[in-house]
Amino acid sequence: MYDYDLLVVGSANADLVIGVERRPGAGETVLGSDLAVHPGGKGANQAVAAARLGARTALLARVGDDGHGRLLLDSQRAAGVDTVGVLVGGAPTGVALITVDPSGDNSIVVSPGANGRLTPQDVRAAASLFQASRVVSAQLEIPLETVVEAVRSLADGSRFVLNPSPPRPLPSEVLAACDPLIVNEHEAKVILGDSAVGETPEDWARILLAKGPRSVVVTLGAKGALVASAEGVTRVPSVKVDAVDTTGAGDAFAAALAWKLGAGSSLAEAAAYAARVGAAAVTKEGAQESFPTAAEVEAR
Ligand code: ATP
Repeated sequence: MYDYDLLVVGSANADLVIGVERRPGAGETVLGSDLAVHPGGKGANQAVAAARLGARTALLARVGDDGHGRLLLDSQRAAGVDTVGVLVGGAPTGVALITVDPSGDNSIVVSPGANGRLTPQDVRAAASLFQASRVVSAQLEIPLETVVEAVRSLADGSRFVLNPSPPRPLPSEVLAACDPLIVNEHEAKVILGDSAVGETPEDWARILLAKGPRSVVVTLGAKGALVASAEGVTRVPSVKVDAVDTTGAGDAFAAALAWKLGAGSSLAEAAAYAARVGAAAVTKEGAQESFPTAAEVEAR
């Protein structure tokens, strides 16, 4: 028996957002709106998304011993995430400084801070969390060697899901563990690098699959997603909604997919459910604030 449906190994950031009439150029100062501070980071987002759906979820992450770290711990606990694996100290909490103009275009500066200090040693020290988790998911806002150590720490019979964002070339040891590797178009292209990328998402999925993952999911925004495994490539239909804010859709999708796979769904079934969760997330402003509960997904 596993104590956790999902262990998320990843980043936690404070998103500091200021609305501006015009984003500043070099050497320029502009006045903006009041500051809004939101809990974010792909690891923290995916943990909250899974817990809101009802998954027993733990987060392995590092935050600073500061107000932003406390905000992140509070938001995880409020969503029902077990924060026993959230380490505190070593550097300031990771921060994303975001300016948004009236057309919705933004400029973002990220300071990884404590996320960059989540080490392979921290993963080894959390061995009991890995042994207790049916599915482990990761992203790439933490050091790659930490993700490699997470793959080496998987319990027998548990499953590894990777959303390689921000993308970079991956070692074959990590690729071989992914079941699935979840990418959008941009991530697929970076990971494929110089390999022939083909014309269609189906082509990218097949070429990625040949690089070692047991399965691949390509997310396609409003066009839905597709899944690829040894059994072939299948389209997952999109769910029609009036999109308000697409921030966090990819995190909601990845979390829902990881949870459903752990619960025994097939890849196609899990992706169809994840597409409903991703669609629900785009109907509300924000990232964590927009993630639906299981009841809200059913009600749609
Ligand atoms: P992010 O902006 O969070 O990084 P992403 O590029 O990783 O997102 P997307 O492909 O944009 O991920 O979205 C993930 C999933 O959410 C999609 O595969 C789709 O199922 C759903 N989704 C996203 N946008 C929409 C939309 N406008 N309408 C319906 N479903 C959507």
